[in-house]
Amino acid sequence: MNKETTQIVEKLLASPQNIVIVGHKNPDGDAVGSCLGLSFFLKSLGHSTTVVMPNDFPDFLKWLPGCEEILIYEKEVQKADEIFETAAVIFTLDFNSLDRVGDLQTVLEKATAKFVMIDHHQQPADYATATYSDVKMSSTSEMVFHFMDALGNSDKLSKEIAINLYTGIMTDTGSFRFSSTSPTTHRVAAKLIEAGAQSAIINQNVYDTNSPERMKLLGVALNNLVILPEFHTAYITLTQKDLDDHNFKKGDTEGFVNYALSVKGVVFAVIFIENKQENIVKISFRSKGYFSVNDFARNYYNGGGHINAAGGKSSQDLNKTISEFISILPRYKNDLINAS
Ligand code: 5GP
Ligand code: MN
Repeated sequence: MNKETTQIVEKLLASPQNIVIVGHKNPDGDAVGSCLGLSFFLKSLGHSTTVVMPNDFPDFLKWLPGCEEILIYEKEVQKADEIFETAAVIFTLDFNSLDRVGDLQTVLEKATAKFVMIDHHQQPADYATATYSDVKMSSTSEMVFHFMDALGNSDKLSKEIAINLYTGIMTDTGSFRFSSTSPTTHRVAAKLIEAGAQSAIINQNVYDTNSPERMKLLGVALNNLVILPEFHTAYITLTQKDLDDHNFKKGDTEGFVNYALSVKGVVFAVIFIENKQENIVKISFRSKGYFSVNDFARNYYNGGGHINAAGGKSSQDLNKTISEFISILPRYKNDLINAS
């Protein structure tokens, strides 16, 4: 975090404040880990904090220190509204624009509090008094570590903070596999381990707590895998019925798209998941090398994210969504061939 931003933040936090920390809709490990880590840190400085998520987070994160205090906006609208009204500072973490928080968007838009953004997504919006944005960062959780450091508070790194930030970094880097993982990411992880984050236990809690239904759903997803060798592309589809038949719970499809990307020669992987309740098809994009799924998701699917990981949605039905997707691919044939 640069000097100017640090000074603005120092001013905002000079005396104890009521602070709300917000993550994005469909929160993942990085959103939850970074928000909780920051919350423990700000509490240790004497501030009052509340973490608010637009909607519920997956079960595989429901062991994180402090997670029981997270307010789910969808479930407690009134309580959350009151908390936002009395907030002096609102931190927004792991998202780059206010349309990433679902129904919370209007609440944030009318809030009088000062905003601080900490985020690593492309093209950050300009709504915050202090914007700490760095698209090269592995994760927002890594940025929270640097944020503490910039404020001269590395000594405040508690076990609770370490566990939350380690989980965020681990999940957002695909266990330190993605190209966003830098030497610094590993150095930060080492410090978090020294501060009490037990890597093996965190791995077990996150990755070895699958329900049998989730594993069967993965079987269906893999069965539905389609490979388009000409375009170095692979995609997976899941219908609402597939989800219903397997007692789908939030987070169950997390990581499925990576199996499509793991096929030899594939540089572009997509999963289409039907959501009859919202009347959309939710789409996750992953890529290798230079092929920007951020651009692809922005151009066609009202979405965005990072160069190699992005999301978006379609309001067409599943079949139409897929046939349109296939019809777009020829425009990118050269880019896909030259991606890596
Ligand atoms: P996932 O595919 O795992 O849901 O998300 C991959 C990345 O893209 C994450 O960093 C996530 O925040 C971002 N992302 C997912 N869905 C959307 C979306 O609808 N809009 C935007 N702007 N970003 C998204
Ligand atoms: Mn993230």
